[in-house]
Amino acid sequence: MIAKSSMGADSKPPAGMKPDGTAYRVLIVDDSMFIAKQLGQILTSEGFEVVDTAGDGAQGVEKFKANQGKIDLITMDITMPVLDGVSALEKIIQIDKNVKVIMVSALGKEDVVKKCLLAGAKSYIVKPLDRAKVLERVNTVIKM
Ligand SMILES: [Mg+2]
Repeated sequence: MIAKSSMGADSKPPAGMKPDGTAYRVLIVDDSMFIAKQLGQILTSEGFEVVDTAGDGAQGVEKFKANQGKIDLITMDITMPVLDGVSALEKIIQIDKNVKVIMVSALGKEDVVKKCLLAGAKSYIVKPLDRAKVLERVNTVIKM
């Protein structure tokens, strides 16, 4: 149990905290440093822990493997060099079919997003990122 003393008597624990008081751990996969940083700031401000960040899909798969069992959620960009988000999603699902992946998509990519949801992604976020929307989607997926 952490941070209990810093919370008021009736304040709720932050969304990024598990019932046992530890943080939900997130892997951010995005080739845009700006988006990765923005996502990281939104999530850490709510108590989530960013375990690692990957700059392309191949690195994302590698970092997922390296941290297996230590990741509660992945945010996955779609358009990336080396290996795109759709292919990276498929590879990660092959490793762990229960993995929780949220796709991060540009506007107008409905067909690709649909494909990702059919492949096993739990949800998606559309850019530009809206803090409330990001947290709403993340909180829904983390409870699945
Ligand atoms: Mg991208």
